[in-house]
Amino acid sequence: MSKTDLIIIGGGAAGLMAGCAAGELGLKALVLERKAKPGRKLLMCGNSRCNLTTNISEDRMVQMFGDPVGPFLEPALKAFTPSMSQRWFAAHGLKTVVKTGNKVYPHTERAADVLNLFTDQLRDRNVSLACSSVVQALEKTKNGFRVTTDNFVVESKYVLIATGGVSYPKTGSVGDGQDWAKKLGHQVEAFRPGLAGFEVEPGVLQGRVGKIYEKVTVDVLSKGNVVGQTRGVFEIEKWGVGGTALTDASRIVARHDLKNYVLKVNLLDGKSEEIRPLNTRSIKEAMVTVGGVALDEIDFQTLESKVCPGLYFAGEVMDVDGPTGGYNLQAAFATARLAVSSVAKRCGKKDGFQTLEAPPKGQGARRRGPDRREHAGKQRRSGQKRRNR
Ligand SMILES: Cc1cc2nc3c(=O)[nH]c(=O)nc-3n(C[C@H](O)[C@H](O)[C@H](O)COP(=O)(O)OP(=O)(O)OC[C@H]3O[C@@H](n4cnc5c(N)ncnc54)[C@H](O)[C@@H]3O)c2cc1C
Repeated sequence: MSKTDLIIIGGGAAGLMAGCAAGELGLKALVLERKAKPGRKLLMCGNSRCNLTTNISEDRMVQMFGDPVGPFLEPALKAFTPSMSQRWFAAHGLKTVVKTGNKVYPHTERAADVLNLFTDQLRDRNVSLACSSVVQALEKTKNGFRVTTDNFVVESKYVLIATGGVSYPKTGSVGDGQDWAKKLGHQVEAFRPGLAGFEVEPGVLQGRVGKIYEKVTVDVLSKGNVVGQTRGVFEIEKWGVGGTALTDASRIVARHDLKNYVLKVNLLDGKSEEIRPLNTRSIKEAMVTVGGVALDEIDFQTLESKVCPGLYFAGEVMDVDGPTGGYNLQAAFATARLAVSSVAKRCGKKDGFQTLEAPPKGQGARRRGPDRREHAGKQRRSGQKRRNR
């Protein structure tokens, strides 16, 4: 049985960033990942191009997350802002580019490069990453926690749960962290699909499958009232409707627990159509999970559990989700860094993170030509099939 300062459970976006942060702050940390390789979901992000963050201010981001997520994330987003995130990646050798819709990508537009950066950093900073280590149990002990994997047992004073939501379970996130949190006294909000398309009665969209409408707005209507509005792309698929405007609308439906609702799609030419979906697509195919460990039992200034001291959370395991456009990865990264810096303070580490110098004016993230994704969309008007992401 070996001891360490911090055990990080989950080697996804939040867990990997937490490991890097622990290395930066000189903590002895161990990252445990169930899969043979870390970051399976990270590799899928942004059609494998990885929309890392957004190029907007942290205040605007808080607004865009909306209640209750935005105010909860505020300290994390202020401590690691979207522009600091871009500078962090650049400082570690991966410059970023800003594309349409303020979406920020690595300049190589390869999610694999983001993952390699993380694993290189862990190696260079002596943070252990144990893959193929399925955590089976997390228990409170007199002095901290005992973590039992299928191969070994480790103990530490502090544990960070970064096991993600429950969407795309093949990537390894299946809800284990929420189960442990429940056993340790936490409330868990019900899981609902966020950022998913909507299934529509077959026939309603007949003859239009494959069509893409750019720059629409969508009003989410319930009992005649507008509950929320989104903007973006509207795509007609075999199974129903998708595209960013619609997937963002699914988050509004989930957050308001709407059962009877209408999606009013307003097209650029002034025409609009009302769609009454059968339901949101399954959570397995949603990009994020709405629901998770309840926010009011987590101290938003430190991300420590209010009911189980020494236990911390980061990323989608919490009831945290955002719109499309880099919000969810930014939330995972920022919460990971805040949680680890809170642990470092508890461990008596006085030095904080190195300042990420702002580049001289005009030398921030590079702006590049139009988004390749948009070109792909235009090509698809000719009937090509593409996954809805
Ligand atoms: C198709 C797709 C595209 C997306 N694109 C984007 C995008 O471009 N931009 C964006 O901002 N967001 C995007 N997202 C959302 C983003 O990927 C997630 O919000 C983010 O990955 C959440 O990070 P996380 O670390 O909390 O969870 P995850 O990335 O899910 O990581 C959790 C990790 O914990 C591990 N784990 C779980 N249980 C155990 C256990 N018992 N023992 C050990 N390890 C365990 C899992 O194997 C997994 O590796 C996308 C999501 C999907 C599905």
